Amino acid sequence: MTAQIIDGKAFAATVREKVAAHVARLKEEHAITPGLAVVLVGEDPASQVYVRSKGKMTVEVGMTSFEHKLPAETSEADLLALIEALNADKSVHGILVQLPLPDHLDEDLVINSIAPEKDVDGFHISNVGLLGTGQKAMVPCTPLGCLMMLRDHHGSVSGLDAVVIGRSNIVGKPMAQLLLGNSCTVTITHSRTKNLADVVKRADIVVAAVGRPEMVPGDWIKPGATVIDVGINRIDAPEKGTKEDGSVKMRLVGDCHFDSCAEVAGAITPVPGGVGPMTIACLLANTVTACCRANGLAEPEGLTA
Ligand code: NAD
Repeated sequence: MTAQIIDGKAFAATVREKVAAHVARLKEEHAITPGLAVVLVGEDPASQVYVRSKGKMTVEVGMTSFEHKLPAETSEADLLALIEALNADKSVHGILVQLPLPDHLDEDLVINSIAPEKDVDGFHISNVGLLGTGQKAMVPCTPLGCLMMLRDHHGSVSGLDAVVIGRSNIVGKPMAQLLLGNSCTVTITHSRTKNLADVVKRADIVVAAVGRPEMVPGDWIKPGATVIDVGINRIDAPEKGTKEDGSVKMRLVGDCHFDSCAEVAGAITPVPGGVGPMTIACLLANTVTACCRANGLAEPEGLTA
């Protein structure tokens, strides 16, 4: 069997189109422009790239982007004061603090100072609790993107056996909650799980969120299963030659060994071009959802959990 490739790049474009259409309606019918504030502390190069592309895509769908770039030595009090101001600002519907923060800043304290209804990353403890109890929450973007792709592929995932590999607060745990909320039978696995291969082999849906290059081989996959590969890993790619400085070029791979998994699976997301593009699309979706909720308006269809 050769798996159907779930094209996250194309699917993310359709999500952004839906967001843009809803933003246009909010502007036209209610004179409201959704606004997303992104706060970056320090000069981490990867974070700078993420923040730039978030800002660009926010503007592309017609929303207002507020970027706050603070020096690495920003004090906790100053950062909390900025978040308090953004919480009170009616033109800001979503607030995202780019992680990781410099070591002297308490990430939990900072995230939990964001107004939960503006917490478009879904990391605030209130949103974690709301999601865990099946209530209306802001849902973390990466698992939300995975769920959207699964629903698009399967229609309903009700009754399916799902195995989530990884138990992080940003991917593994919320992913498991979402699958449970969609009536899957869910197993969460992690670094101490015994017989991981046997557990994965039972799954109709495998979501891998570990951060270990190509650790899931095709012979762990049940024939016809759907494989959602969240992992983003950089590995040496000597076949691509060397860079100007003489070092070997790199390429991105997922947590699943793509070629062997694609031989067995019914459907699979590639890396790159699978889950990755969905994450920013879902951030935009969460911002428009937060804006609708803040204004007591109907939420956009197909953009929430
Ligand atoms: P994390 O390091 O916080 O968590 C990794 C999890 O994997 C842990 O729960 C750990 O128990 C588990 N694990 C480690 N070794 C294992 C093993 N041998 N067998 C089974 N489980 C094992 O990572 P994270 O933040 O959840 O991210 C996971 C991966 O997803 C990373 O590659 C990250 O870059 C990627 N990621 C991608 C996106 C995206 O937008 N596509 C977003 C977030 C994270």
